[in-house]
Amino acid sequence: MTDTGRRAEASYDAIVLGVGGMGAAACYHLARRGRRVLGLERFDIPHSMGSSHGVTRIIRLAYYEHPSYVPLLRRAYDLWRELETLTGEHLLHQVGSIDAGAETDLVFAGSLASCITHDLAHDVLSGADLRRLYPGYRLPSDYFALFQPDGGFLEPERCIIAHVLTAQAAGAEIHARERVLGWEPAGDGVRVTTDHGTYNAARLVVSAGAWIDQFVPDLVGLARPERQVLAWFQPDQPALFTPERFPVFNLAVPEGRYYGFPVWGVPGFKIGRYGHRGETVDPERFQREPDEADEALLREATARYFPAAAGPTMALRTCLFTVTPDEHFVIGPLPGVPQVIVASPCSGHGFKFCSVVGEILTDLVDTGETAHDIGLFGFERLATLPQPRTGVAA
Ligand SMILES: Cc1cc2nc3c(=O)[nH]c(=O)nc-3n(C[C@H](O)[C@H](O)[C@H](O)COP(=O)(O)OP(=O)(O)OC[C@H]3O[C@@H](n4cnc5c(N)ncnc54)[C@H](O)[C@@H]3O)c2cc1C
Repeated sequence: MTDTGRRAEASYDAIVLGVGGMGAAACYHLARRGRRVLGLERFDIPHSMGSSHGVTRIIRLAYYEHPSYVPLLRRAYDLWRELETLTGEHLLHQVGSIDAGAETDLVFAGSLASCITHDLAHDVLSGADLRRLYPGYRLPSDYFALFQPDGGFLEPERCIIAHVLTAQAAGAEIHARERVLGWEPAGDGVRVTTDHGTYNAARLVVSAGAWIDQFVPDLVGLARPERQVLAWFQPDQPALFTPERFPVFNLAVPEGRYYGFPVWGVPGFKIGRYGHRGETVDPERFQREPDEADEALLREATARYFPAAAGPTMALRTCLFTVTPDEHFVIGPLPGVPQVIVASPCSGHGFKFCSVVGEILTDLVDTGETAHDIGLFGFERLATLPQPRTGVAA
């Protein structure tokens, strides 16, 4: 039991359930606006049991998933830069982004559309151009690649730490190793029970990642936890995979969609495959240790498309996506329970949005509304969607 533990029936403006990527940002924005906030996290801060670990996360302005993400991304960039200024930390590394595939594939064509719609700087490259400019890449010469110079990567664990430190400095109370057991409406507010005590609040933000359906039954089957694996391979030619020579990428090829990074933080080129092996899992019990099949899947793609990176394995790690049927986020008040705000911005591409999602959640806590366009993310659309599919984005 920690000394911050049993504060039976303590009362807050807002409780944040889950202090991972989104919850940490929400704690910061709530505290900065002067709200009395309690963040509750069942594991350590940060940790490697959920969705926000693995040293790097892509951030990009070119957004093939839907052009309407771009205004949110512009605000997310501003807020990440603001967090860097506040903390003196370098969290966002702008190395450029590549979105590549066949000319008609969504990854290339959708990225190009978002650049045109939002007047973003970009270059269209052939597979041969790409190889000449960035020799770590070896794509078929009839493929196309969109280069966008604002793309790059964030350091997720350090982003969470930065948000928690700034939240604490603004007065937030944050408890790690305290597991939420449940919540119930209490008048216009909520009562939250943990394995340490009971707390009351005017509002509850549920940012529980892969565990979200334990607290939001409406999302059972619609926010599907999926096992992912990340691999890092030692390049045979390390000079081709430095941040200066190797933009982050999204790549659509016949074997699937892959994403990857230059060497950073781990001594290897990093690659993952969207959906990996298509395994829907229970986050409480699944195969966390990567196996030979996981490694082989990622090594084969590396050898084919990034051959100079396919050296000895440096690290393998599992992680969890929380995937919705249309791969867009779920953000908004819980239908019928407006004092509970749900934040499930994953579907494999949420981390880059944490900073702006923290601001959106704070707007929703304060007024039930936000000036940001979150029209894609409402609960109501979930009822009309077809069955879940794989092939999500980063
Ligand atoms: C392998 C991989 C690669 C990815 N690549 C990218 C990328 O390149 N770019 C990008 O933008 N996005 C990427 N994503 C997606 C992105 O990382 C996620 O969208 C984001 O991290 C989700 O944050 P979250 O806060 O919802 O989840 P989490 O960070 O997992 O936070 C949820 C928190 O809730 C806590 N919690 C759950 N239950 C309880 C409870 N009962 N009591 C207390 N706390 C609880 C958990 O412990 C956890 O800390 C990737 C994801 C994965 C897995």
